[in-house]
Amino acid sequence: MTDLYDVAVIGAGFAGVTAARDLSMAGHSVVLLEGRDRIGGRTWWAEALGVHLDLGGTYVHWTQAHVWRELKRYGIGLATPMPVTKAYWQADGLVHSGTLAELKQLTTPLATRFFADARVHFPQVDNLAVADASEIDKQTVGDRIDSLQLSPHDRDLLVNAMSILVCSEHEQGLAQLLYWCAICFGDWNAFKEIAGHWPIEGGTGRLINAISAESRAELRLSTPVVAVDDNGREVMVTTRDGQRIRARHVVVALPLNMLDELSVTPPLPQPVRAMIEQKNPIMPSKIWVRVKGEIEPFVIYAPVGKHPINTAHAERRDNGDTLVVCFCSDTSALDGNDREAVQRALRDFVPDIEVVDTVCQDWANDPFARGGWMHHRPGNLTQAAPLMRKPHGRIHFAGADIAGIGVGGIDGAIETGARAAVDVARALDMAIR
Ligand SMILES: Cc1cc2nc3c(=O)[nH]c(=O)nc-3n(C[C@H](O)[C@H](O)[C@H](O)COP(=O)(O)OP(=O)(O)OC[C@H]3O[C@@H](n4cnc5c(N)ncnc54)[C@H](O)[C@@H]3O)c2cc1C
Repeated sequence: MTDLYDVAVIGAGFAGVTAARDLSMAGHSVVLLEGRDRIGGRTWWAEALGVHLDLGGTYVHWTQAHVWRELKRYGIGLATPMPVTKAYWQADGLVHSGTLAELKQLTTPLATRFFADARVHFPQVDNLAVADASEIDKQTVGDRIDSLQLSPHDRDLLVNAMSILVCSEHEQGLAQLLYWCAICFGDWNAFKEIAGHWPIEGGTGRLINAISAESRAELRLSTPVVAVDDNGREVMVTTRDGQRIRARHVVVALPLNMLDELSVTPPLPQPVRAMIEQKNPIMPSKIWVRVKGEIEPFVIYAPVGKHPINTAHAERRDNGDTLVVCFCSDTSALDGNDREAVQRALRDFVPDIEVVDTVCQDWANDPFARGGWMHHRPGNLTQAAPLMRKPHGRIHFAGADIAGIGVGGIDGAIETGARAAVDVARALDMAIR
């Protein structure tokens, strides 16, 4: 058994690393316990295809206050994405092509109808009580799409437009999608740019490494935690290999889909336990593809369930080739490490494309994530998630999955990590007085 730490932080994604840095820099003794042999969690800046690539979360924006503050703190900017002109999309069983502007003209009116009431339900996004969103939070994304009574062609177009965000329309809550759009002023095109356009220069690894380098916390990698037990005076943390670590407070910064493997004493409130059992339904894989030659930059959209690749785009050039990133909603539909299978799938849209090599990260089957970015099922955005943001005795939860503004993203991970650090620091301070 080790000494008594002020704080044990569990999980070294953006939330946990931020909490550990803030608390350790405030002079508290902090141990950061991470299951993997690396930090970063659902972001992963790794060497692959002869370059460095983001295999998980990637895009951020200057309107995201928390990640922007961190980028400025470490003097890190954004990479400039390659402009895309060509678009391919599948609708009503056929592949169509045109310019990106032409595709936008077709999809914007549909998306505008879908998101028309986003600001009505979320007029003041930092205060869910201002307008009662509980009714809207009973519906799924699919309920809303069905209610628009679109032709099969237009339905496919709308699903295409949202395909980077919607993997499972009958499980994902409508409220989160409307909430995200309301945060972006209710403007669909602003929302698209904010959610998925600007990568960090040097990758997410550059930012999380900078935060970690400033931290004074003791980092223990390859240390999965199986239990946290708050006896009212301190918390006992038990690791998978039987180590027991004592701490005055604990910050749990794990993905929602890992929490059913963590024993928490005293038990969590019932709505939170129900949310943990229901799980995050987003089960994606991300595939990077090295394509021969400097081909015309393109985007591809295909409706979820009707093609193994739901969205792809050419992101950058390297050494005379083009690097293309693909997102798949059903990881069993395509083996992203099978070069020929990926080439066949891409050739449904770009007939002469030549795939040189691929790398795939299957987040659905990742043993420390068991899912992708968070999308709440109906009810949980407005009920269980806010409950989980409150301290549970000496146990504090953090992470993008339970964030308010920033839910499901790097910004939300940083915000909740910083907020948990403030809550713990205050509690430690009160105990001294
Ligand atoms: C394919 C994909 C694309 C995405 N795109 C974007 C994007 O473009 N922009 C954006 O903002 N967000 C994006 N996201 C979401 C974003 O990556 C996450 O919301 C964010 O990184 C989550 O951070 P976190 O710290 O809350 O959780 P995680 O990053 O999941 O960190 C949790 C940590 O806990 C560890 N852990 C798990 N179980 C245990 C255990 N029992 N004991 C100890 N440690 C454990 C994990 O290994 C992990 O390191 C994307 C995610 C995916 C998967």
